[in-house]
Amino acid sequence: MNAIALNARPSASFDAKLAQTKALLQQAAQEFAPALTLACSLGAEDMVLADLVNTLALDLDIFVLDTGRLHAQTLQLLSQLQTTSRVPVKVFQPDAQAAADFVAREGQDPMYKSIELRKACCHIRKMEPLERALAGKTAWITGLRREQSGARADVPFVDRSDATRVKLNPLSDWTWGDVWHYISTNNVAYNPLHDDFFPSIGCEPCTRAIALGEDFRAGRWWWESSDLKECGLHVKPQAGASTPVAASAQAHVASGDVKPEGRDEAKTSVQETA
Ligand code: SF4
Repeated sequence: MNAIALNARPSASFDAKLAQTKALLQQAAQEFAPALTLACSLGAEDMVLADLVNTLALDLDIFVLDTGRLHAQTLQLLSQLQTTSRVPVKVFQPDAQAAADFVAREGQDPMYKSIELRKACCHIRKMEPLERALAGKTAWITGLRREQSGARADVPFVDRSDATRVKLNPLSDWTWGDVWHYISTNNVAYNPLHDDFFPSIGCEPCTRAIALGEDFRAGRWWWESSDLKECGLHVKPQAGASTPVAASAQAHVASGDVKPEGRDEAKTSVQETA
């Protein structure tokens, strides 16, 4: 049974969610493009978003962080996306000298030795390239969903807690079933690792398949405790600077964007912006 057969179960409000997602993406493009970019990990959520920004012909680019440690299947999907995407796909890689020096000093797989070395690897291979990918951008789009983990349970649709740039999470309220329903009905290409029980896919040394009943992100950095399982890409810039969902929603609504909380409100807002 592949990932579509296993997971494609739309929620009752899927159509409304999809309409809201499209509206949010279009409004974001109006407000921020061309200083707007989509962070694409090539996971299922991000392939949905890549399909949507292409379908909606939005004036933005897609960026991918090629850490140098991705699975062959992920690299193949990247190549496919580069071929098929009408929206430019930019690939950012680690500084070659910094990566080589780190490997020479700490070994090929130092991430298992300590959290500090794992974070150092993530910094070289993800965080520094991310800074380059976001340079000059005032907003970015991610595939974060509240359902993914406890640490992401409060992910707002629009996060203005970072004064540097706005983070948009248009799939915030989508379920895993919604994601796969979209992939199925729109014939979206996806990473075959998802068929092998990899719901969340990162670098090869740091990702494993999960077993039945395990947490969605149990296969990421599985040797660490669950509350430390972020690489830094989606960690708030300052302790205590996070904006509660309600406050973020208020700021968002006040600015005339789509209302993030409440499906009925979202419907109204989408209609207003249609
Ligand atoms: S996820 Fe693993 S391999 Fe990838 S950058 Fe982080 S520590 Fe390095």
